[in-house]
Amino acid sequence: MQHASLPPYRHVTVPPHDSSAVARTAVARTAVARTAVARTAVARTTVARTTVARIAAPHGRATHGRATHGRATHGRATASGVAPRRVSPGGGSLTIRGMAVPTRRVLLAKPRGYCAGVDRAVQTVEMALERYGAPVYVRKQIVHNKHVVAALERRGAVFVEETADVPEGAVVVFSAHGVAPQVRADAMARNLHTIDATCPLVTKVHSEARRFAAQGFDILLIGHEGHEEVVGTTGEAPSQIQLVDGPADGAGVRVRDPAKVVWLSQTTLSVDETNETVAALRERFPTLADPPSDDICYATQNRQAAVKQIAAESDVVIVVGSQNSSNSVRLVEVAVDAGARAAYLVDDAESINPAWLEGVTTVGLSSGASVPEDLVAGVLEHLAASGFGHVEEVEAVEERMFFALPHELRPEKPAR
Ligand code: SF4
Repeated sequence: MQHASLPPYRHVTVPPHDSSAVARTAVARTAVARTAVARTAVARTTVARTTVARIAAPHGRATHGRATHGRATHGRATASGVAPRRVSPGGGSLTIRGMAVPTRRVLLAKPRGYCAGVDRAVQTVEMALERYGAPVYVRKQIVHNKHVVAALERRGAVFVEETADVPEGAVVVFSAHGVAPQVRADAMARNLHTIDATCPLVTKVHSEARRFAAQGFDILLIGHEGHEEVVGTTGEAPSQIQLVDGPADGAGVRVRDPAKVVWLSQTTLSVDETNETVAALRERFPTLADPPSDDICYATQNRQAAVKQIAAESDVVIVVGSQNSSNSVRLVEVAVDAGARAAYLVDDAESINPAWLEGVTTVGLSSGASVPEDLVAGVLEHLAASGFGHVEEVEAVEERMFFALPHELRPEKPAR
């Protein structure tokens, strides 16, 4: 399905609202160096009523919505330092025959959609297909989005659950969520040609787990039971890592030495809920050590910050993303917590229930980190056809991030 050609946004530039900086240091093995943008600027882009943004590329290609390449910088919203700034009239009202008629509008969160880790993972499979030809095997879903997976399947990717399902000697890509060391060992034993698309920010958490385990710490890993990322991280030191799934889950934790405990986390959690969990753990273990830098990644934090900004003004928030996408599910929860009357997770425009829009004036719209932008464009078209043609884009933080491709796919250096 190809979306109709639509006019572009009229872009409005807004100066930084808050200059509070968030300094971050790149620690990931394959991540390029990055610096904090330190802007919590909020920009709003208005699209004239009855138009929607042209943000689509042909549906079915898993290459849309990529992070801006070529600059190794990114922004991240501070926890409390983001405040929306309106630069153009938002919903307001129209007056028709002397009667005020509320303008039906969409508040479109930015940043949304593809993060640098997902972009890299999808490109990895595409490049592996180009270089080695089909089939290229992929252990687990490369990213948690059914449309992206289906598009790659059409190009020759074969998704399997375990490396045991891959023929000996074949090419296999490890997904963005990371794998336990045992999986690498199994792949080597089967003589598989492995390409590792693990997000560098997940790799960072693995490194922390190995380091704290080597120092004799008990590690409390905050995350969701069964999530692939959690399974992979736990595999780094199974005897020293315990899963803590939410604030109430810490009560059952047992450690060898209460003075030598550290918490780490899955990268895609709710920032607020994780803070609650850490506070509960710290009541039990007052000297609980913190990770050296945030484990919840920049993309998760930025998308949650953007959703918070639109939620309070929205009657309903729609988040585009798949049910098994942790960061997408968290966006729905964050939207409700931030004041939306209701929030829904949809895979695409076809999943929208018309009843959700009855009596609604403002629809908030965002998408998870594994969602290509053409799916958001499809939802905007659907909303425009339902009377929500006025779109304002609300930017919480400027985001530019780039991760180099896995070394297995980088061009070989010419011999000297
Ligand atoms: Fe990496 Fe964060 Fe994207 Fe996950 S959501 S792939 S950790 S950048």
